[in-house]
Amino acid sequence: MSTLQTLAKTISSLGPEDDLSRYLRDESGLEAEGLPAQVLRPRTTAEVAAIVRACGLENRRMTIQGGRTGLAGGAVPDPGDVVLSLELMDQIESLDAFSGTVTVQGGVVLESLCRQVEAQGWYFPMDCGARASCQIGGNIATNAGGNRVLRYGTMRELVLGLEVVLADGTVLTMMNQGLKNNTGLDLKHLFIGTEGTLGIVTRAVLRLFPKPAERHSALVALADFHQLTDLLKAARGTLPTLSSFEVMWRGYLQAAARALNCQEPFDGAYPLCVLLEVESGRPDAGDGQALHRFLEERIAGGEALDAILPQSRQQAAQLWRLRDAIGEILYDMQPCVAFDVGIPLQALPGFMERACARLDARWPDARRLLFGHLGDGNLHLSTGPHPPADLSAVESLVYEEVERVGGSISAEHGIGRIKKPFLHHSRSAPELALMRQIRHLLDSRQQLNCGRVLDL
Ligand SMILES: Cc1cc2nc3c(=O)[nH]c(=O)nc-3n(C[C@H](O)[C@H](O)[C@H](O)COP(=O)(O)OP(=O)(O)OC[C@H]3O[C@@H](n4cnc5c(N)ncnc54)[C@H](O)[C@@H]3O)c2cc1C
Repeated sequence: MSTLQTLAKTISSLGPEDDLSRYLRDESGLEAEGLPAQVLRPRTTAEVAAIVRACGLENRRMTIQGGRTGLAGGAVPDPGDVVLSLELMDQIESLDAFSGTVTVQGGVVLESLCRQVEAQGWYFPMDCGARASCQIGGNIATNAGGNRVLRYGTMRELVLGLEVVLADGTVLTMMNQGLKNNTGLDLKHLFIGTEGTLGIVTRAVLRLFPKPAERHSALVALADFHQLTDLLKAARGTLPTLSSFEVMWRGYLQAAARALNCQEPFDGAYPLCVLLEVESGRPDAGDGQALHRFLEERIAGGEALDAILPQSRQQAAQLWRLRDAIGEILYDMQPCVAFDVGIPLQALPGFMERACARLDARWPDARRLLFGHLGDGNLHLSTGPHPPADLSAVESLVYEEVERVGGSISAEHGIGRIKKPFLHHSRSAPELALMRQIRHLLDSRQQLNCGRVLDL
């Protein structure tokens, strides 16, 4: 009996005779072309290390899976892979109420973590539309961004310590607890955002913040991009607790309202809307009134067209549902390409003009939707339906324009399988060569997530 077969007796395991359908795809729409050999669901770091060592001995490639909400195809296995799913490593180990940190296993679901720390008066600020399924290990592996990066940074800024299992089965324990630690190369950053190609995230120490007492949102209607950048600058200066600045172009808002079967929030046909959010430490901190005054002044001064300040949590939640409706909207636009690009703010109007004009000229019947975390220069552009044979040409066209303005082909979703052929638009040849050397050093046989991010 092989070592893997022996392990499968003690570690939760599923084989080809079981229903493996949910392990075959992620939210990118990519699907495995054949079944994995086995799905193993360890509960501890020691079990992960044992699986990795057994796969090494038997020359088996592995696909690491978190919540499979990724949008780059990184969690989709190749036929015959061993899938290592973190779904049973879902323990919150401890919360340090003195320093505001929490120690978790990699498979803890984001929403569950947020709820549990909030019950103890703390706050974990990472948030995104996939909160109910994505896992902390997946968030770390993709360096996830989301709705509150403007104030708290990406996942990288929220990770203090990490435990990782390397491709040879070594357990690298770097469970640092403090904000400061200048003791040479900070190795945890090798594993944040490298999508499971350098190691498997099994545990992490995360930063917490005091739980906000209140949250105030507002939807602001604007005439053009100049009003947008002015609003961002003014809001940053005037509203110190600004945590979100989410932009939706008119076409997106219309499509979201249609997809959710609700009315558009404004009667007027405004070109651009921004969903702002501020967070208050105390109920009487006055942030809600400050937001109200700020928007009144902008409208009175002709710097904004209109605003909605929700009067209840339900109204605010309805506005956020519009912002989060992309999954429902894209349903109608298949086959489509959903871009997640990072563009320097001053270059954004030119980028959009050129990219949309070139797309319109070649694919006049496709719809385009634009929205994004514009406070972070992160634009989501979705275009479709396109003939399947044209999808790669659509990508090349947009990524050429991204390269022209020195932008990033992935601001937050990662490279995975889908964007691998285009990575050279954002990374120079020497950068790619160094990345290959590091990967070779840590996993020369490409045991972990082979075929993702870059080839050796
Ligand atoms: C509706 C919706 C909204 C979204 N909104 C956002 C958003 O606002 N911001 C954002 O950044 N992303 C967003 N995403 C994308 C996705 O949710 C994130 O990329 C998330 O971080 C992926 O986590 P996961 O656990 O689902 O990872 P998976 O999809 O399972 O895996 C993603 C990659 O990480 C690797 N991986 C997973 N777990 C581990 C681990 N423990 N150790 C090592 N490697 C691992 C996988 O092999 C794969 O390469 C959204 C997705 C959806 C469906």
